[in-house]
Amino acid sequence: MIIVMQPEAGAAEVDAVEAKIRAHGLDVHISRGTERTLIGAVGDERKLDPEMFDSMPGVEKSMHIVKQYKIVAREWHKANTVIDVAGIPIGGPTVQVIAGPCSVETAPQMAAAAQGAKEGGARLMRGGAFKPRTSPYTFQGKGVEGLELLRSAADAQGLPIVTELMDVRMLDTFLEYKVDVIQIGTRNMQNFDLLKEVGRIDKPVILKRGMSATIGEWLMAAEYIAAGGNHNIIFCERGIRTFETAYRNVLDVTAIPVLKRETHLPVIVDPSHAGGKAWMVPALSCAAVAAGADGLLIEIHPNPCDAWCDADQALTPVEFATLMRQLGAVARAVGRDF
Ligand code: PEP
Ligand code: MN
Repeated sequence: MIIVMQPEAGAAEVDAVEAKIRAHGLDVHISRGTERTLIGAVGDERKLDPEMFDSMPGVEKSMHIVKQYKIVAREWHKANTVIDVAGIPIGGPTVQVIAGPCSVETAPQMAAAAQGAKEGGARLMRGGAFKPRTSPYTFQGKGVEGLELLRSAADAQGLPIVTELMDVRMLDTFLEYKVDVIQIGTRNMQNFDLLKEVGRIDKPVILKRGMSATIGEWLMAAEYIAAGGNHNIIFCERGIRTFETAYRNVLDVTAIPVLKRETHLPVIVDPSHAGGKAWMVPALSCAAVAAGADGLLIEIHPNPCDAWCDADQALTPVEFATLMRQLGAVARAVGRDF
């Protein structure tokens, strides 16, 4: 961290900054220029915050010089990390697709969705048992019964499962049902207690981007999980909120190459919650794969009109199968396997 002193700052003010840095166990390097003094904090500056210095007398401004995330940073881990989900590699040469309904509804719905996912070529199945809904009066998910239905429908097709955890109190139940990938949804990206809890286990975690989160905040949220020891983290871009109201969210395609540069961890894209309409899903999926996404999370439903949640954005199994054929060509065009 560098602390830039005001031109009129005196020796006592410089000394006070120096003392504060040393009190945190770091060394100090002082550079006296013709106009200003710069104070460098030497050591692990991640424990320091500009807030600690900006309010001190004589300080003009202070700034970090190293990135605040460490474990997730590509800076310290050049090779791509490939996460093994029940034998399926995510983040390797193959673009992997996760498909399934927004929410788990009934056994026949899940059986048909699992069959559609499998036959279309998805390698994992999704389905929400606990749903974060905007209104408390709408369907909130089937809960534990939903986990059971998801588990058995996916098992029948040999697909590992992905489902959202909203409450730390359900973590043991998720482990009991052998959830293969825990999804942290957009609304919980900065639920730090939840992040710390999934950081203590070794299950792969899909960390969705907060709807208004910057890339830096998203990387720091992943760092929370990683700091607890769980490095099996998959980033999922799902669209961000902007001034645009013509579609549900704006798929931030730019985030894909930026994130691939900043982190060694896999990056997948959810085109369904980005566009919010089924007809947009093929174009957004192709864009994501072309931009370097390691996978896709796509909502499908055997009968979208009857879906209990997110009916507008679900693909039918036939539409999904058609899209998968198209995606194979896009993936191969950018040097990926599919
Ligand atoms: C979901 O994937 O079911 C979901 C609720 O997504 P998001 O958290 O991105 O809104
Ligand atoms: Mn949904």
